[in-house]
Amino acid sequence: MTQVIVIGGGLAGLAGAVAMADAGLQVELYERRPILGGRATSFIHPSSGERVDNCQHVLLGCCVNLLDFYNRLGVAEHIDFHKEIPFIDESSRVSVIGPSSLPAPFHLLPSFLRLKTMGIRDKLSIVRTVAGMIRHVARLRSTGGPAAAPSPTVAPSPAASHSAEPSEPSPAASHGAEPSPDSMAAWLEAHGATKRAVEAFWKPFLISALNDELDDIDADYAIETAVRAMLLNRSGYEVGLPAVPLGDLYAPCIDYIEQRGGRVIFNRGVTGISVHDGKVASISLQDGSSVEAGAYLSALPFDVLCKLLPQSQTSDPYFSMLDGLSVSPITAVHVWFDRPVTELGYAAVIGRRIQWIFNQSSRHAGAFSADNGGAYLGLVVSASDDWMKTPRQVIIDQAMEDLESLLPAVRRAKLLKAIVVKEGRATFAPRPGCDALRPGPSSPFPNFSIAGDWVQTGWPATMESAVRSGYHAAEVLLRTRGVRAPILKPDLPAEGLMKWVTGLRSF
Ligand SMILES: Cc1cc2nc3c(=O)[nH]c(=O)nc-3n(C[C@H](O)[C@H](O)[C@H](O)COP(=O)(O)OP(=O)(O)OC[C@H]3O[C@@H](n4cnc5c(N)ncnc54)[C@H](O)[C@@H]3O)c2cc1C
Repeated sequence: MTQVIVIGGGLAGLAGAVAMADAGLQVELYERRPILGGRATSFIHPSSGERVDNCQHVLLGCCVNLLDFYNRLGVAEHIDFHKEIPFIDESSRVSVIGPSSLPAPFHLLPSFLRLKTMGIRDKLSIVRTVAGMIRHVARLRSTGGPAAAPSPTVAPSPAASHSAEPSEPSPAASHGAEPSPDSMAAWLEAHGATKRAVEAFWKPFLISALNDELDDIDADYAIETAVRAMLLNRSGYEVGLPAVPLGDLYAPCIDYIEQRGGRVIFNRGVTGISVHDGKVASISLQDGSSVEAGAYLSALPFDVLCKLLPQSQTSDPYFSMLDGLSVSPITAVHVWFDRPVTELGYAAVIGRRIQWIFNQSSRHAGAFSADNGGAYLGLVVSASDDWMKTPRQVIIDQAMEDLESLLPAVRRAKLLKAIVVKEGRATFAPRPGCDALRPGPSSPFPNFSIAGDWVQTGWPATMESAVRSGYHAAEVLLRTRGVRAPILKPDLPAEGLMKWVTGLRSF
């Protein structure tokens, strides 16, 4: 009998599978689709024939577990890190946020003060709100708040990480300890952020990092993200962009798992999970067969997991509370031109519908076609609810209108083709209080651990959260077999003043 079955070949499932294979377990991974990567993947677009990423995916220097996963696979060299983040405003002016020689948390301050996109009052409001964020985090730390998110060194007991009841959050349920009723928009207003500072900085940064409107984002989540990325450590904010299609990053997983005695099985969706005597007994597959293993790691989206379990089990609070999680969409627009249209490698966009521009032709060096001397841009809109029901051609027209106003060269270029990828369920929505609904990795069944970006990790729904959850779920399963292998990597250490401001060396 197989030792462990992993369900789902997204980042959470792959990270869990690779970590368990490394720890000497024989792993069988079942994936519904013919490709790996789940919501962060590449595919051949049916009508254009182009191989594209479903959407540009960005990581930051603080994504230590994702980077560890890439290192295990030997693909970390395909991530290009950028220390400078260009912002392009309504008048096509480009300002850059970048490092200075100052220690954390002041390392980005000089570049903020030089921004052309806002006035001095707005810059001072950013300094004020950042100081408020540091105080907020220090307060959360002193009351046992978010710093308690899964620690790489302290393996929580199954009972603690089970965190079934929203009213009885586990120590691992970070914000769950005291869910904030506040949205980030309300918090920023209360802390004196000017309208322009919100438009020209907080919105571009936080909407794309958390994938929702500021009115709908839990303030604790947003503040944790801002502090972790921008203030804690000098390299936390650095922007990592894959230099190859996303799918190429996971290709080594297959050999990796097979060389350690396991298998990756594609096109084999799981259709049911059966439970017997309080344990998972087997899974059934779309071809009608069923398979058994000693242990199981589910890395399914939360709604899919609940549908596959016997109905009698989904009333357990561990699963029933997932009904309270909602989702938020992201739309990617891919456009090809007959000539170069910008020298920027990428940029955050202020005051338009499109939020980020990624110059794929300059970065992928032939990995993606740019039609001989042309240009290929990836445009991203997070929290794109408005576009979910909008016809694709209208989306393309609106994106082109934005591009023409931002990049004058686009007006002279010919649009060769365009693709719209709508991801309606891109991430769970980080609504105020939602953290209390995220369970830990130990399910009610001792041989069944749970991973996915939506599991309690202390992070919003990101690739880092997915990998963390996979590593954590693997740790839990290994512990049930008597193996105490720390897999989760420690966060970047707090540096400079942040060491004593947060009262912690790691965040
Ligand atoms: C458009 C978009 C842009 C994003 N941008 C970023 C970004 O810039 N940076 C960032 O960090 N994050 C980003 N994210 C979020 C990131 O992609 C996710 O957080 C992460 O990929 C989730 O991984 P996961 O393994 O938890 O889930 P998933 O990727 O959803 O994996 C679940 C897997 O289970 C499989 N599956 C489903 N049902 C079954 C079944 N019945 N049987 C077997 N297998 C099944 C699926 O096919 C899938 O492979 C973005 C997401 C989207 C959609």
